[in-house]
Amino acid sequence: MGRQPPVVSDEALAVHRASIVVDLHADTPSLLRLGYDIGKRHTPPLPRAALGVHVDLPRMREGGQCGQMFGLVSLPLRKGPAEVIHRQITLVESAARSHPGELRVVRTAEEVEDAWRAGVRAALLSIEGAHALEGRLENVEEFARRGVRSLGLLHFSANAAGSPAHGRGANPEQALTGFGKDLVTELDRLRILVDLAHINRKGFLEAALLTKKPPIVSHTGVSGVHPHWRNIDDEQIRAVAAKGGCIGIIFAPRFLGRAGALGVVEHLLHVLRVGGEDTPALGSDFDGLVTPPHDLRDPRYLPGLTEALLRRGLEPRIVTKILGGNFLRVLREVGP
Ligand SMILES: [Zn+2]
Repeated sequence: MGRQPPVVSDEALAVHRASIVVDLHADTPSLLRLGYDIGKRHTPPLPRAALGVHVDLPRMREGGQCGQMFGLVSLPLRKGPAEVIHRQITLVESAARSHPGELRVVRTAEEVEDAWRAGVRAALLSIEGAHALEGRLENVEEFARRGVRSLGLLHFSANAAGSPAHGRGANPEQALTGFGKDLVTELDRLRILVDLAHINRKGFLEAALLTKKPPIVSHTGVSGVHPHWRNIDDEQIRAVAAKGGCIGIIFAPRFLGRAGALGVVEHLLHVLRVGGEDTPALGSDFDGLVTPPHDLRDPRYLPGLTEALLRRGLEPRIVTKILGGNFLRVLREVGP
């Protein structure tokens, strides 16, 4: 079975068990497309758990993780991405049907809490990149009907909404397009979270200002700890905090600039200092082609992260907010 996560203190375990742990981003649906059974325990095939096979229900249970926002990814082709997203939603739904009592697709904070009390994992649906809409605002409503709760405006290429921070067609001067602005308004109307991961800085600040709801950044690092194109700066953190949003810190040392779970801790603490205690959250990017820290390589290691946060002197109630409380508040504020 390979290595086991280290044993954590009773105090850390108690705080962890009392928290509703929710991660804001994992790309596990990409594995479901290849026939991956999320109900079985897996061992990552590559050394250092590179690239994926991080998330499954047994390891989530073992790590005390209740909720996972699953990213739905499609290629930015002219035709077909919407259908690709619909198929992935169907795969997540059928994974939940195949594992009754173990996995539930949910939409609201109350449903996450119900799942937690019942000892069931909660899956939330999130689209990565507005190219999936194929330029049609009507598609947002269709995805909302299927339970999508969050939409990332950009992914790795420019689309009808704006420019990515990095990737094909990236342009730092590009603001939100007219379509991008209409999209933010439509997401607000349909009570879908606006996800500002991957968008360029200019579009980020504009969207954060425009939305009337608390936005999220589902998976990112912060440049205040490690300057990198993938990371957001203090003004961006403050823009999200000003709207009551939250920021999920990615578990990828290449973006964090630090080895080990302590890198995640440093970035979380920076968000806490700049944005306040309502802002930091978890955004692993598990199964998203990242190589996680050696001591945070899958959900089983999450109690160790709780321990590391407590050891840095954070009060248990703040640790609980970081582990999922902040995100659940945002989800509640955005509405059902
Ligand atoms: Zn991503």
